[in-house]
Amino acid sequence: MYKPKIAVMATGGIDSTVLLHMFKDSNPTPISVDYGHVAFAKQVEMLEHHIKTLSINPLQIIKISFGEWQKTKGLFTPNYTPNENKPLEDWDKLRYQDFFIEGRNMIMLAYALAYCSANKIDELLVGYLYGEEEWEKRRTYKLMTGDNSPQFVDMMNLLSNVGLSHQVRIRAPFYERHWSKKDVIAKGKELGVNFEKTYSCYFIPECGVCDNCLLRKELL
Ligand SMILES: [Zn+2]
Repeated sequence: MYKPKIAVMATGGIDSTVLLHMFKDSNPTPISVDYGHVAFAKQVEMLEHHIKTLSINPLQIIKISFGEWQKTKGLFTPNYTPNENKPLEDWDKLRYQDFFIEGRNMIMLAYALAYCSANKIDELLVGYLYGEEEWEKRRTYKLMTGDNSPQFVDMMNLLSNVGLSHQVRIRAPFYERHWSKKDVIAKGKELGVNFEKTYSCYFIPECGVCDNCLLRKELL
C-alpha cells in the first residue's frame, strides 16, 4: 500500500502541534522556518518536547531572512510589549508595523516545498483552520491576506506541480475535516496533547493581549 512520506509545517503553536500528534504514526518530519523572529527559540523549545514525546523525525530548521523593508518591529525586538489593550485591531497601521510580514506563508511554503522535494517527501501538512468563526468574532485578523485559505493551498499546489523535481502535495487536514480551532483543541485533548508545551504569542515574553493570546485564553 502506498504510504506517503510526510512533513508538517510546525510552529510550536496549538494547531501544528495537534497535527504532529494526529500523524505521529506516519513519522512526520517537522519543518520550522527561522526568519529571525524573537519567538523562534521558544517555538523550538516547545517543538522539541513533542518530538521527543512522540519519537518522530528530528526537527528540520529552514533559515531565511525577510527584507529590512518589512515593517515588523514587534517580531524582531526582544521584550517588545504591545502597549495597547487591542494592539492588533488597527489593522492598517499597528498590526502591519508590529507583526504582519508581506508574503510570509507563500515564502515559507516555497522553501518548505523545495526541502520536501529534495528529500523525496510526498506530502507537506499545514495546520490551517477551516472554521474561522472565533477569529471573525474577534477582529479584522483575516482581512489582510488570504494566505491560509483553501484557494491559497490550491494555488501553491499548482506551483508545486510545475516547480519541483519530486511531486509534493500540500494538505490541510483541518480543511479536509472541516475543523475550527475548537475542534482542533478537542482532538488535542483526546490525544493527550500537553498544551502547556505550546506557544502562540507573536512576541517574547507572552504579551497576553494579542489576538493569539486572547484566543488561547478563551479556548484552552
Ligand atoms: Zn500575545
